[in-house]
Amino acid sequence: MIFSYDQRPVRVVFAPGALNHLPTELATLGAHRAFVVSTQRQATRPPSLDRLLGSRLAGTFDRAVEHVPVAVVDAALVAVRAANADVCVAIGGGSPIGLGKAIARATDLPLVAVPTTYSGSEMTSIWGVTDDTGKRTGRDARVAPRLVIYDPDLTLSLPPGVSAASGMNAMAHAVEAMYAANPSPASLAIAEESVRLLAANLPSLLENPNDDEARSGALAGAHLAGCSLDLAAMGLHHRLCHVLGGTFGLPHARTHAAVLPHVVAFNAPAAPHAMRRLGNALGNADPADALFALAKSLGVAVPLSALGLREADIDRAAQQATATPYPNPRPYTRDDVRSILQGAI
Ligand code: NAD
Repeated sequence: MIFSYDQRPVRVVFAPGALNHLPTELATLGAHRAFVVSTQRQATRPPSLDRLLGSRLAGTFDRAVEHVPVAVVDAALVAVRAANADVCVAIGGGSPIGLGKAIARATDLPLVAVPTTYSGSEMTSIWGVTDDTGKRTGRDARVAPRLVIYDPDLTLSLPPGVSAASGMNAMAHAVEAMYAANPSPASLAIAEESVRLLAANLPSLLENPNDDEARSGALAGAHLAGCSLDLAAMGLHHRLCHVLGGTFGLPHARTHAAVLPHVVAFNAPAAPHAMRRLGNALGNADPADALFALAKSLGVAVPLSALGLREADIDRAAQQATATPYPNPRPYTRDDVRSILQGAI
């Protein structure tokens, strides 16, 4: 066995009502002026946050959107600098957390994340921004949140469709960690438990979005998915989804949900050991089938055409996905990617 990985220092607080601990936790970090980033559409910044922070609230920016466009980063940076903040607090899904990372990268401000979806971004040092040339991503320890506050109560307002798609996004991190090119005993154990928690709890959420236990279980699964994404290199699935989101504007989480079973079916023959482990966690000896069935039951097994991909885009998407390939258990050609997309469209 040969392995190596970096373990970053991060404080994680997980409890119903944990948002109330934010002021104390910020004080422990030595932070006094918080700049809060959120999304506008669903008002992910609860009014209680402003009350909790009181005079520690230095400024806000509520225009985070998916894929972190550079124009939005530039606008946020103007506001951050005017606020003279000493910490950035991102509350909401992967979009505000992604913007928080871009702010941390540009300013060296410490980042605090309060995730309210299952993106897992809060546990990674992976940043991404999108400009005219597509989506660029990288790893940088400066963008990794120093403090993560998980409050499952904040996820109770997540619409079922967002829970389902976001949960499958988390699932994709854990699945790709299982056949990653740089596995470690830690990444494998974390990924397996993540798959188990997500598969066990996502269906219950669809039946009852207010199921506290399922909310906690799914959020804990997403936490581990983020940890596995941080420890392991991602493969073809993540490469393809970055291209589909960054170049063709497909919605991030729903694209992950739609593509994952197709890529797992492609990779299965080349990763028998990982498939056995994945099968154990999913309770089905055929992981691709199990993921198709799970996505279908959650209502997110939709064709990519329904998410905005056109037949005419397939060739360019396949070309981009193979131009800078990610390590993958089964080597892939442009024709392979084309046929995966043909099957998923
Ligand atoms: P998102 O942050 O855009 O949230 C999805 C929707 O849910 C939004 O409309 C949002 O307003 C709403 N929402 C969030 N919390 C809510 C709540 N508590 N109640 C009601 N509505 C709520 O989407 P996402 O899927 O969480 O994140 C996608 C983004 O994250 C993409 O840009 C993706 O690239 C990035 N991402 C990054 C990483 C990483 O490690 N860097 C990992 C995963 C995803």
